[in-house]
Amino acid sequence: MSSSQQSLNPLENAWKQLDIAAQMLRLDPDLHEVLKHPKRILTVSIPVKMDNGHIEVFTGHRVQHSDARGPYKGGIRYHPNVTLDEVKALASWMTWKCATIDIPYGGAKGGITCNPKKMSLGEKERLTRRYTVMISEIIGPRRDIPAPDVYTDPQTMAWISDTYSQIHGYSIPEIVTGKPLHVGGSEGRIYSTSKGAVICAREAASALKINLKNATAVVQGYGNAGSYAAMFLQQAGCKVIAASDSKGGVYSKKGVDAVKLNDHKNKTSSVVGFQGTEKISNEEILELDCDILVPAALENVITKKNASRIQAKIVSEAANGPTTPDADKILAKNEVLVIPDILANSGGVLVSYLEWVQNLNREHWTEDEVNKKMEAKMIKAFKDVYNTSKVKGIDMRSAAMVLAVGRVADAVKTLGIWP
Ligand code: NAD
Repeated sequence: MSSSQQSLNPLENAWKQLDIAAQMLRLDPDLHEVLKHPKRILTVSIPVKMDNGHIEVFTGHRVQHSDARGPYKGGIRYHPNVTLDEVKALASWMTWKCATIDIPYGGAKGGITCNPKKMSLGEKERLTRRYTVMISEIIGPRRDIPAPDVYTDPQTMAWISDTYSQIHGYSIPEIVTGKPLHVGGSEGRIYSTSKGAVICAREAASALKINLKNATAVVQGYGNAGSYAAMFLQQAGCKVIAASDSKGGVYSKKGVDAVKLNDHKNKTSSVVGFQGTEKISNEEILELDCDILVPAALENVITKKNASRIQAKIVSEAANGPTTPDADKILAKNEVLVIPDILANSGGVLVSYLEWVQNLNREHWTEDEVNKKMEAKMIKAFKDVYNTSKVKGIDMRSAAMVLAVGRVADAVKTLGIWP
């Protein structure tokens, strides 16, 4: 990612997307102002004893955007580029996402500015536990339920669950979702974001009359969301021709075996160097001729600089905020069907919700039960957004935002403002 792409502020993009929906909905300007701002922001300085005995102080945030439709919900990101504005944008996208997929949650997000790749497991555990203690006053199983995001994983969630439970003196697994299976996690959660993104891509392909068996796919970012997306696309019959991670990308016209590529990444910590592939940059990979492009890394990778060179027919946004509003206009003009992040990656929060419901009821459902409930809700959400876009003659992001913002605005209006 170039430095100019990194400098784009995701919060400005989030606000522009809200402005477009507000205009289309003829939203009351006062209500628009309410929806623009997070309800609560907590910033903490987290002292962590590093392995060398020295204490390092990290900055962390928890931003609670809206709880009009239910408890706050959203992941926690560990990354060197985490800023408060980024966390604010991500928190608002969670609100719109939960409303798009129509689950009874609001939106929140957490982030710590750190480089987890340079930290030992012990340092990451101490950072996670101290951060949990410092935000414990504002999170809660019926209040604000965190989940994984970039560079946090089921182990991180287990530490949060244990720390919060120790504070309260009894086991409260429903404080967090995305946990390992044996400590209250849900079947199907680990791959749910990707499964959702691929269900959406499949529905979009069917709408565009593209046969997945002859389709080609490209995945940027081969972490949790990207690697499973590639494997599901392959399972659906697509040929995955390229994939990348923070160290670079690999390309093969003949196709790359997504499962073997995943094994290679697990062994070597990168997709780079996978046998039978050519090296390709993270910029070039986005511009490859393909049917389905899945951005699954970070924000602002499709901008006005490269949007006109995107050749994919469908973009399924597994990542949050990969496309800027300027780029959206160019993609719409070029008839690229963009499945917006708040729909494409909502499978993750959807199965998180199912995990939370299981935890609250002390139940554990089978993988089949989870996947059936998940797939039915994903297909319904895709159809709602697609039909709205056709009826109103607008792009898919605007359609998803019109649905989501309308639902949240209705809730705010009905609940009223008190005192
Ligand atoms: P992850 O940490 O598992 O993976 C991130 C991947 O992106 C890694 O392979 C990393 O090497 C790669 N990457 C980092 N910087 C990059 C760069 N500059 N160029 C290309 N690749 C780069 O994270 P994840 O959970 O897979 O999240 C990825 C995206 O999906 C994020 O935008 C996240 O918000 C979104 N998302 C994830 C979930 C989920 O359930 N995991 C849910 C919703 C949205």
